[in-house]
Amino acid sequence: QTANSIASVLPIPTKQQPLLLNFNENSLGMSSKAQQAIVHALPQAFRYPDAAREQLIEKIAESHKLKAQNISLGNGSSESIQAVVQMAIYQAQKAGQKIQVIVPDPTFNYAELYAKALGVAVIKVPLNDKLAFDIDAMKKCADEFPGVSIIYLCNPNNPTATITPAEKIEPWIKAASERTLFLLDEAYAEFVTDSHFRSGIELIKQEFKNVVVTRTFSKIYALAGLRIGYAVAHPDIISQVEAFVSLDNTNTASAVAALASLEDKTFLTISRTSVETSRKIVTNALDKLGLEYLPSQANFIFHKVPGEVKVYQDRMKEYHVFVGREFPPAVGWNRLTLGTPEEMTTFVSVLNEFRAKGWV
Ligand code: PLP
Repeated sequence: QTANSIASVLPIPTKQQPLLLNFNENSLGMSSKAQQAIVHALPQAFRYPDAAREQLIEKIAESHKLKAQNISLGNGSSESIQAVVQMAIYQAQKAGQKIQVIVPDPTFNYAELYAKALGVAVIKVPLNDKLAFDIDAMKKCADEFPGVSIIYLCNPNNPTATITPAEKIEPWIKAASERTLFLLDEAYAEFVTDSHFRSGIELIKQEFKNVVVTRTFSKIYALAGLRIGYAVAHPDIISQVEAFVSLDNTNTASAVAALASLEDKTFLTISRTSVETSRKIVTNALDKLGLEYLPSQANFIFHKVPGEVKVYQDRMKEYHVFVGREFPPAVGWNRLTLGTPEEMTTFVSVLNEFRAKGWV
């Protein structure tokens, strides 16, 4: 089946309306309840967002069975990541201690970027031969460092979409010295079904002070453009993080949309089911084409492409399909966002056409 032959049932990507499978957004679009909440709140948006902000913090805390003091809102979880990194660097330097950031490679790079901007060393520990975190090597880096280490662990990881099981992470956190702060980025946690995953929030409930978890409304709740996320940690840590986020950082639209999203359980289920269906469409196609992929636990999938990934990406672009990029040192792999099932059917038809042309 070619892209043209399915034109009558599926939208064909065009220059004006390309198929965007490159930024791990949620193509479903936000919950209609979230949209209605924004429209409803707009006439009052000339006021500062304090009331909506407070309500949202309460609601997030309640959803995790924690207190408001455990939550710090961010303008996207990006701001929360930035604030945590800045806070830890400030605290270490104030105490006259050295500080470094340890990250797996490849991973989502914001912790790295914010640390580098402050002149702090970032140690990149390559993934192992299974493209999983090399926890032992990361731990060794922290143990051998005469100072404070921020350990950034993205779970599920971006770009691999794979989880790191709790049994690999928790013993380390529980036994780690006071000189170690774990920043667990759980932007995609709501998509996970694998029972070996456990949120770091469980450790925060056990009062561990060396863990901060970041979450976002950008992914499962499809609010990426509204910029809303948060950090979860012990109240003593949250109060330090709060000193580094911008004051009144939440806009009214994002706050009410996030609140409505948390209340809309149906949307959450639809979002999850949609990604599962899309994933199945893609993995069936990859299986048929004999293209290797990692077990995805998020709204994207990391798969192999033969030849240069850049060439593949450019050819997809010619078909108005924007796929993700290569993430060295994982050479030969491409990150593909899982859009709606319809979008992924279109993607598969293009991929099949690539096979017919001998491109994949
Ligand atoms: N963390 C990870 C792993 C991501 O992939 C992203 C966005 O792609 C973010 C954080 C930032 O998300 P936001 O700032 O929209 O919450």
